[in-house]
Amino acid sequence: MHTSGADTARSTLLIVDDNPAMIQLMARLLTGVGQLRYAKDGPSALAQIRRAPPDLVLLDAEMPGMSGYEVCAELQRDPALAAVPVIFVTGHTGPEFELKGLETGAVDFITKPVSEPLLLARVRTQLRIKRLTDELRAVAATDALTGLLNRRSFDRVLEREWRRCVRAPQPMALVALDVDHFKRFNDRYGHPAGDACLRAVAEVLRETAGRPGDAVARIGGEEFAIVLPQTDRGGATIVAERVMQGLRERALAHEDSPTAGIVSTSLGVACLDADSALWPGASEAAATAIADRADELLRCADQALYAAKAAGRARAWLQDYADLGTPGRPHEIATCTLPPPRVSPAAST
Ligand code: GH3
Ligand code: MG
Ligand code: MG
Ligand code: MG
Repeated sequence: MHTSGADTARSTLLIVDDNPAMIQLMARLLTGVGQLRYAKDGPSALAQIRRAPPDLVLLDAEMPGMSGYEVCAELQRDPALAAVPVIFVTGHTGPEFELKGLETGAVDFITKPVSEPLLLARVRTQLRIKRLTDELRAVAATDALTGLLNRRSFDRVLEREWRRCVRAPQPMALVALDVDHFKRFNDRYGHPAGDACLRAVAEVLRETAGRPGDAVARIGGEEFAIVLPQTDRGGATIVAERVMQGLRERALAHEDSPTAGIVSTSLGVACLDADSALWPGASEAAATAIADRADELLRCADQALYAAKAAGRARAWLQDYADLGTPGRPHEIATCTLPPPRVSPAAST
């Protein structure tokens, strides 16, 4: 992570102006400040911003067809793009124009003819702010110990992906994972070793869930989750197996575990796919009924996890989204052969 906000060379700037000479001038003035991109009208600017949001937009207020104000207002309407900073560049001077730009959502205002030092100063300032904002956002979204998503981001990702998958419809799975007998691990090896163990688990999860869209989070002390969009129960089972396999290969000694001689985990998998009784299929109404119930997918995974613990730990159980709350419904989908425990399994609680 960058600690300095001064380095803006890797920032991307989008210059939008219907006048090619103006674009050329700005490009010359801003050489080296960041990576420059161009658009010559509102619609193509919006398309570019949607495809790859830049760090700053220099937006001509007056353009034929869609004006800069309309472009800016459109960005404000899209929650994913509302934070893209916009500086208006306009031939009109006067507080009413400046105010209009700021009220539309712009962060600053530059008048034509453009003064080179003023343009550079304002652009650099906004890029610095953008860099810092990005860093803060990343910190706020991340679990400090493992670098994974934290609980807050997990909730957001889960909700977003669930909505997307249900609407499509596409299958989706969620894996909840809890380290077995972790209290004993801490008691035996100490808290710093416990932390290192959590980091190792995080690494295994990161290596396992590598598809774009997969999201790995630490959602509690020694509890993790993997959001698996576009993944059915078969795919989720493979992920669960790989997690257990990966951890077995790490072979982190856990001499006080009644389950195995090494650190093991229990996994609960929840899924909604074409085999589910609640699969929305082509039904709009069925999708609407569950679209804002991502929390139930998590509860489902929790129930499966609880069942995996009760069945002896170091295994994965699965519960269909349609079976939430139905007793006896989760079932085992994977286990892993582990070195035997050093202590009596009877000591297990
Ligand atoms: P089970 O097999 O039933 O999951 O037993 P457990 O001991 O793993 O579960 P329990 O919930 O009793 O204990 C969880 C432990 O995790 C207790 C707590 O001290 C430890 N823990 C939670 N967060 C951290 C952390 O950030 N670092 C370390 N080192 N330990 C943590
Ligand atoms: Mg113009
Ligand atoms: Mg726990
Ligand atoms: Mg535990």
